[in-house]
Amino acid sequence: MPRSQAGQTVEPEACKLWIHCNSCCALFCDKKHTFFLLACHHVFCERCVKVSAGRTPSDAPIFECSTCRRSVRGRQLTNSMPNHFKQLFHPEPFTIGNDFVETFQRGNHRHFDKYKERKELEMDKLSKDIEVAKSVCQKRFLEAQMLRVERKKLMQRSRYIKAEVANRKAEMHRMAQAYRSRSLTSQSSSSAQCSVRGRPRGRGTATQSSSRRRSKESRESAKRQQITSFIHPPNHSFDL
Ligand SMILES: [Zn+2]
Ligand SMILES: [Zn+2]
Repeated sequence: MPRSQAGQTVEPEACKLWIHCNSCCALFCDKKHTFFLLACHHVFCERCVKVSAGRTPSDAPIFECSTCRRSVRGRQLTNSMPNHFKQLFHPEPFTIGNDFVETFQRGNHRHFDKYKERKELEMDKLSKDIEVAKSVCQKRFLEAQMLRVERKKLMQRSRYIKAEVANRKAEMHRMAQAYRSRSLTSQSSSSAQCSVRGRPRGRGTATQSSSRRRSKESRESAKRQQITSFIHPPNHSFDL
């Protein structure tokens, strides 16, 4: 495991974390793509750079740099690349005394730091959005809970009102029946009064009691009249 100047052990890939595609910021140490160093000193992954001219077996291919828009030669970032290219990716550039290597690495560090800052801002915004969405969801959930309780109460109330309406209907039916029977009774009593019309009205309770007595008598006489007796057919068969 490599050691830094302070003697601390460092992760083998940590010193390569700055190597990234200058276009999409994919990391070299993720080892998902092939990387290229172009002669303009821009670094790209295979997705972000394209070969603009065919290569001959002895020569490096020509790429079209998407940052500086130049047609440049490029080399794949491998262990076997020429030493003066490989030194650009030296894990401890300050030890080799090459200013250009340090400048190159510093420039890449800055570029990658800006990308990280942008991503961190996006993350902050997203986490704020998530918090807002959470609080909205919580609010909606509480509202839904309250609505459920309200609905339950309203359903109970609706059941109670239905039962009350049914009771009232039954009561009204009973009252209507009672009214009908009362009106029938009063009709029959008024018809009895009609039979004793001619007598002066307004004599008070004595007259009323006598009329009631009369109506009772008339009812009794009507009952008597209703008695069924033998039927006598007319007798014309012989003369006496
Ligand atoms: Zn890329
Ligand atoms: Zn370039």
